[in-house]
Amino acid sequence: MARRPSKHTRPARPLGFGHSTGATKRDGRWIVRSIAGAAATKAYRCPGCNQTVTPGTPHVVVWPDVPMLTSGSGLDERRHWHTSCWQRRP
Ligand SMILES: [Zn+2]
Repeated sequence: MARRPSKHTRPARPLGFGHSTGATKRDGRWIVRSIAGAAATKAYRCPGCNQTVTPGTPHVVVWPDVPMLTSGSGLDERRHWHTSCWQRRP
């Protein structure tokens, strides 16, 4: 009988995720996590320039420090940005 690994024993964080930092922008506080290129396996739409964040591109993912009342957790509001677009954001 095969024993299936419990999902509870998996690492909490996927490989390639950097550390999280906070950032204060014009519209509030955000949590920012840098994503290594090797960990960027999907294409995302950058809200800053409306261009694609192509797979393999190091970038940042941000979400609100304080979740909006309409969402259960800020993780539902994650957005992927080009690093330079995020830094240019007021
Ligand atoms: Zn961008």
